[in-house]
Amino acid sequence: MSNAVPTKSYARQYRPIWGEIRLAVERAFFEDDPVLGGALERFERALAAYHGVRTAVGVGSGTDAIALTLRELGVHEGCEVVTCAHTFSGVISAIHLAGARPVLVDADPETALLPPAAVEAAITPCTRAILAVHLYGHPADLTALGDLARRRGVHLIEDAAQAHGACWQGRPVGSAGAAAATSFHPSKNLGAFGDGGAVLTSDESLAARLRVARNLGKNGKYEIVRISPNTKLDTLQAAILEVKLRHLDAWVARRRELARVYLDGLRGVGDLVLPVERPEARHAYHLFVVRTGRRDALREHLAHCGVNTGLHYPIAAHRQPGLAELFRGVSFPVAERLAETVLTLPLSHELETGEIARVIDRVRAFFGD
Ligand SMILES: *Cc1c(COP(=O)(O)O)cnc(C)c1O
Repeated sequence: MSNAVPTKSYARQYRPIWGEIRLAVERAFFEDDPVLGGALERFERALAAYHGVRTAVGVGSGTDAIALTLRELGVHEGCEVVTCAHTFSGVISAIHLAGARPVLVDADPETALLPPAAVEAAITPCTRAILAVHLYGHPADLTALGDLARRRGVHLIEDAAQAHGACWQGRPVGSAGAAAATSFHPSKNLGAFGDGGAVLTSDESLAARLRVARNLGKNGKYEIVRISPNTKLDTLQAAILEVKLRHLDAWVARRRELARVYLDGLRGVGDLVLPVERPEARHAYHLFVVRTGRRDALREHLAHCGVNTGLHYPIAAHRQPGLAELFRGVSFPVAERLAETVLTLPLSHELETGEIARVIDRVRAFFGD
């Protein structure tokens, strides 16, 4: 057996649930309903129930979920959407695709999340929405951001793509604002075997508009009521996701157990800054991200030892070559420093405790601990 530690393994993920997946896929095939089929409706119902919202609308990707939500909430040309400079930069593209202008604020130095006070300072008469990304699986401060959004009359939209299974004050994320966008990219805590996404909302009228918007703007079979992309969640992916959703809580519990092993094993080692979990939060540990001034050397050392690591994210949003024209002359020191210091250690529910222990040993050895 190889000694390498992967960041994740899809084969290991699917093997124990293969019987359930096969049955679900078989059922979907013989329902004879491949587009917007029964499997999609079942998954949407289960997903909404899990998150405590009225409806879920399955779409083609997390990026489309954000763009369509903004558009259907009336956030368009000339409107501003405030989000964090330390982020998955696809979020910025989604805001731009909706036609709105992304406005960045610097990250909170401790949590690396969107700081409510900075958001408040960035609000202008053009602001229509706050996009709160629950980065790494730790919820943004939904209490403060929810209050702020209500007070200032803007929409709070959650990006829960990395936060399947995360809670804020005991409730699953996804129900704090007007809507939440999520992704089922295979790498997420709840991942399809291909692309997928969804919008969660309790606003039935928004959900109805989204169902039209994801389907070429069609009302019924023939009538096009507006220009819109074709971006539906695939029925087979929904069949797979419905099975995986049943395991999500156990998988997130396992992620938390492995995160605890890291936290115990790495506390006080070198200059490492470890992830924090605020008392109101249940961290879903989509990514276990540490920080160190010696990031590149540690990453190289771990690669030599067969430990695969990731970078989330090495380029701040305003420094992305393809986005730079949107953010001329701005600087966000916390986000820029995060981009240089973050390192993602392997963490996924299918990893073994012994593998995490091996990573810890190699990290300690690097710091001469
Ligand atoms: C993955 C991800 C997305 C985009 O999802 P896709 O399905 O890949 O389009 C959006 N936001 C965050 C925070 C993500 O991690």
